[in-house]
Amino acid sequence: MNWNSFKGCNVKTKNALVIGLGISGCAAARLLAESGYTVTCFEGESHIGGALFEEERPNGIRVQTCGPHIFHTDNENAYNFIKRFGSFFPYRHRVVVSINNQMVPLPLNAHSLEMLFGPKQAESLLSKLSVAFPDEKRVSVDQLMASSDAKLNDLGRFIIENILTLDINHRSGSSFIPADDSYMNDAFVDIGSDDCYYTESIQSMPMQGFMSIMEQMIDHKAITAYLDIDALSRVSIHQDGSTVLLDGVPFKGPVIYTPSLDKLFGFCYGALPYRRSRTSFVDMDIDFHNECAVILTPKAKDCVRVSECKYMTLQSIEGRTSLCMEEPFTSVSRGLSEPFEPAHSSESLALYGKYAELAKKCPSVRLLGRMACYRNYSISESIEQAIEVVSSL
Ligand SMILES: Cc1cc2nc3c(=O)[nH]c(=O)nc-3n(C[C@H](O)[C@H](O)[C@H](O)COP(=O)(O)OP(=O)(O)OC[C@H]3O[C@@H](n4cnc5c(N)ncnc54)[C@H](O)[C@@H]3O)c2cc1C
Repeated sequence: MNWNSFKGCNVKTKNALVIGLGISGCAAARLLAESGYTVTCFEGESHIGGALFEEERPNGIRVQTCGPHIFHTDNENAYNFIKRFGSFFPYRHRVVVSINNQMVPLPLNAHSLEMLFGPKQAESLLSKLSVAFPDEKRVSVDQLMASSDAKLNDLGRFIIENILTLDINHRSGSSFIPADDSYMNDAFVDIGSDDCYYTESIQSMPMQGFMSIMEQMIDHKAITAYLDIDALSRVSIHQDGSTVLLDGVPFKGPVIYTPSLDKLFGFCYGALPYRRSRTSFVDMDIDFHNECAVILTPKAKDCVRVSECKYMTLQSIEGRTSLCMEEPFTSVSRGLSEPFEPAHSSESLALYGKYAELAKKCPSVRLLGRMACYRNYSISESIEQAIEVVSSL
C-alpha cells in the first residue's frame, strides 16, 4: 500500500472514530458530530455508559452498577453542555463515616471533630486550622501532614488511619499516596460546619438518570454507534508507530481513544494497575433504611460503603428502597469493560508515561477520559476535557 496515494473514505467528508462510549466518548462523539464530523463509535460492552452504567432494580429503583455518581462542578461550560440532554435537580450529597462506633459527617468538619474529640479539643483544632490555613475552607491530609503543628499532624494521621484505609496503597501496607480523585473529599477536613460532601457551586442529578443523558448525547444523525465490538479488533497502530489503521486501512481523521492506554499498544510494557470495589445490591421493603445517602465503614472487612440509591435518584417510590454495598478496593484482572480507577503509585505513573510517549507518536490519536489519561477525572472533568480535545482539532 502506498500511503501517500491512499484515497480512503475520509477524503471528502470529515470522519472521526470514538473508542469507548462512557461519558467521555459520548460527549466527544456529540461534539464531533456538531462540528461537522461523521462519527463512528465502537463500544466493547452491549451497552453504553462505562462506569456510569445504570439499571433498574426489580423494585423500580435506578442504581448505578459501579457505585453511585453525583454531578458536581464549578465549570459552567460542562454543566451547560450536559443539561442540554436532560433536566437536572439540585442535590446536596451527605456522607457519614463510622469511627469508634459513632457516625460523623464526612469530610470531617466542626460537628465531626466535636463528636470525636469533645468540644474543647475540637475548638482548639479548629482554631489551629484557621490560623495555619486562613485562606482555606477545606484542608487536605497532605497539608495537615506538612504542617509544623504536631496536633495538626496527629489529625492528618487520624484521617489516614480511620478513613483512608479504603486506599489500596494503604491497605497493602505501602506508604500513603494521596488520591487525585476530585470526587473524593474523604481526605479533607472542613473548617466550617457544612455537612455537604462537595463544595462546588453546581451539585445536581439528572431527573431520568445518566444513561438517558448519554443516550440523548449520541442520538445524532452523524453518529453511528457499534456495541459489543472490541475496537481493537478493528483499530490498530501500523508498525510505523504513527498511522492508525481501521480494518487494516489507514484512517486519517481524529481517533478519540477512551479505554486504557496499555491495551492500545498490546501491553508491550506490561499492564497498568487499576483498582475497583465490587458492588452488590440489597432491596428492602421500607421507605428509607439509612439516615443519609452514603455511610462509610472503612475498617469493615466485607462492606466499606453503603449507599442508598433513592436519595440520589429522587424517585418517589414508597415502601421500597435499594442499598448499594461496596467491598474494599481490590486489584483486578483485566476485562474488556473497565469500570475501575487508576491505582496511582510512582511506578504506575512512570509506566503510564512510557505508554503516553508511544501515543504521542500517533498525532491523530487523542486520549480522553480517566482510563486513557490514567487520571481520576470526575464526570464534569471528563466533559471539560472532551470539549477541549474536540475544539483543538
Ligand atoms: C466507583 C466510582 C465512583 C465515582 N463517583 C463519581 C462521582 O460521584 N462524581 C463524579 O463526577 N465522578 C465519579 N466517578 C468518576 C466517573 O465515573 C468518571 O469520570 C467517568 O465515568 C469516566 O468516564 P469515561 O468515559 O472516561 O470512562 P469509562 O466510563 O470507563 O468508559 C470507557 C468505555 O470504554 C469501553 N471500552 C473499554 N475497552 C474497550 C475496547 N477495547 N473497545 C471498545 N470499548 C472499550 C468501556 O466498556 C467503557 O464503556 C466515579 C468513578 C468510580 C469508578
